[in-house]
Amino acid sequence: MRIDLHTHSTHSDGTDTPAELVAEAAAAGLDVLALTDHDTFDGLEEARRAAAATGLAVLPGVEISTQFQGRSVHLLGYGCDPMSARLGAELARIREGRLTRIPATLTRLADLGIPLTWADVDAHAHGASVGRPHVADAMVAGGYVANRDEAFDTYLAEGGPAYVERYAAELIEAIGLVHDAGGAAVIAHVWSRGAERYLTEPVLADVVDSTGLEGLEVAHPDHPGETRARLADIADRLGLLTTGSSDYHGAGKTRNPLGAEVTSPEVLRELAGRVESRGGSL
Ligand code: AMP
Ligand code: ZN
Ligand code: FE
Ligand code: FE
Repeated sequence: MRIDLHTHSTHSDGTDTPAELVAEAAAAGLDVLALTDHDTFDGLEEARRAAAATGLAVLPGVEISTQFQGRSVHLLGYGCDPMSARLGAELARIREGRLTRIPATLTRLADLGIPLTWADVDAHAHGASVGRPHVADAMVAGGYVANRDEAFDTYLAEGGPAYVERYAAELIEAIGLVHDAGGAAVIAHVWSRGAERYLTEPVLADVVDSTGLEGLEVAHPDHPGETRARLADIADRLGLLTTGSSDYHGAGKTRNPLGAEVTSPEVLRELAGRVESRGGSL
């Protein structure tokens, strides 16, 4: 059983449509795929329809943009009811913040000698969840940078000259919304981009105590082996599940091929049980 629990489609900043993603996953020999677009469930139905003709199981997921003490944390929700009103309202608010950030980003870029329009960005954004990767795609198309990585490294990454903040949910509240929607919550790529400085073991222990967080994504392309070992120890001490996933973005992240990292069948079974105990289903 090959299980990849973190993937993106064109409904956020992946480059495959849900149907293309499903075809790729089947071709890559995966048995289980969770679609976890940023802040939207929009791709789920298409992915499930496409998977019906294959042996692939598509699980409902979402990657929620949250913050903890002002710092970005990505939260994976599994088995949530996509029609949950409370979770849906928060996701809509986050997507609205994504939209209002774009013009401010374009103003910064124009000041830096990179004059792009909303239409330039929109040409690369095919879903409801617009992000910096779509701005990066417009920069690539305009010949200003070679690829998404260069756009982030030079302009768009946090602290970069064209970086603009946007609204994100509070981590603790977002975990509550996942549970309210019948799902289980897993912190994505826990220690990527310097997060080990603020998502320390005592902080994670407090989060678990106050929310009942279910797991940590430990095997992720952003995590070197030593990071995985330390996170696995923390998960063990805190009674958390440990998942592994590619964080596939299609051509948008060439270092993250489908199935690059996987989750064990035992952990998936346990995760499904936790979802059931929250009232949802995987
Ligand atoms: P946004 O959703 O607009 O905040 O953009 C965040 C997304 O951009 C992440 O989910 C990644 O897919 C991508 N990303 C973030 N940082 C980088 C980076 N340094 N290089 C390439 N892609 C990145
Ligand atoms: Zn992304
Ligand atoms: Fe993420
Ligand atoms: Fe992701």
